Amino acid sequence: MESIYGKTVQDLEAYLSNIHFRKFYAQEIFTWLYQKKISSIDDASNLSKELRARLKEDFSFSHLEILEEQKGKDVSKYLFRLKDKEHIEAVLMQHDYGMSLCISSQVGCNMGCTFCESGRRKKVRNLDVDEMVEQVLEIEKRTKKRISHVVIMGIGEPFDNYENITRFIEIINHEKGLAIGARHITVSTCGLVPKIYDFIQFPYQVNLAVSLHAPNDTLRKQLMPIAQVYPLKELMHSIQKYIEKTNRRVTFEYILLNGVNDQEKHALELVNLLKGMNAYVNLIPYNETTHLQYQRSKPLTIAKFYDILKKNGICVTIRREFGKTISAACGQLRSEKEEI
Ligand code: SAH
Repeated sequence: MESIYGKTVQDLEAYLSNIHFRKFYAQEIFTWLYQKKISSIDDASNLSKELRARLKEDFSFSHLEILEEQKGKDVSKYLFRLKDKEHIEAVLMQHDYGMSLCISSQVGCNMGCTFCESGRRKKVRNLDVDEMVEQVLEIEKRTKKRISHVVIMGIGEPFDNYENITRFIEIINHEKGLAIGARHITVSTCGLVPKIYDFIQFPYQVNLAVSLHAPNDTLRKQLMPIAQVYPLKELMHSIQKYIEKTNRRVTFEYILLNGVNDQEKHALELVNLLKGMNAYVNLIPYNETTHLQYQRSKPLTIAKFYDILKKNGICVTIRREFGKTISAACGQLRSEKEEI
């Protein structure tokens, strides 16, 4: 049976017309599910008994199970068990501007970035829309806090699950849904170029982040196999088009790996690549993991790298760290649980 949490307002409207109920109830259902956060549709007291019975017949209302919660300072990590017993994780961060949740989009990941824990396990399947919506909903219910920001940066490559992530965004953004502002939603991709072009047409003002991690193809290919399919030239061209057409600023993520991509020459190359673009760079101190050999750059190297970008007119920030004490790097909790 299909989950109610995977349905957009439009889907519900179509469903209601089909079964000869007023379309208007679609928004009511959303309000009950996402704002009042009822655990049983029987609590939706202003829907007729008949409609409630019908909804129960046609949809599943079951929830994702939170198997484990790890708490650190200003950060909590949640391990979920899915219907087919697979595991995924989400990380909740307390910022001064609100609560931000990092969600997973797939079970496993096929992108194979050499520094990434998630990619050690091949993609098993895409997450369904409801499995993404429920990561947000269940954590709001558990913490009784409002999540104001969502980043799709957990396990998986969101653009390899394009259709579902766009529907997910539609649901969480809806004013009667979780009402998370489009500008507070960020999708992070390793650079699936055709999907970046598709995303230009996506009619929501969500943010795009691109995992760059290297300023040239030789190095990028070593770190990210996707660079063999889409070289930097093509990637940068698609991003230019995205910026031109949407008028939105793009974020480039750049993990600093000790001795690999963190030297002065890399910083200068990066300046050349990005100069004049409406973009900013988010430098990420690498979260070391036991299975992989990379090390995080030294603080001084990070500071130097930052300075070079800054001096050359590139907007740059160093990502604030959250997850170090709780293995919050992408995929780490899952891999500790499953020991693969
Ligand atoms: N597949 C998407 C989203 C998931 S990864 C993407 O590639 O963007 C989210 C971000 O976390 C990426 O920038 C990824 O490169 C980064 N990341 C992966 N492992 C990390 C680690 N151990 N420490 C810090 N960042 C990491």
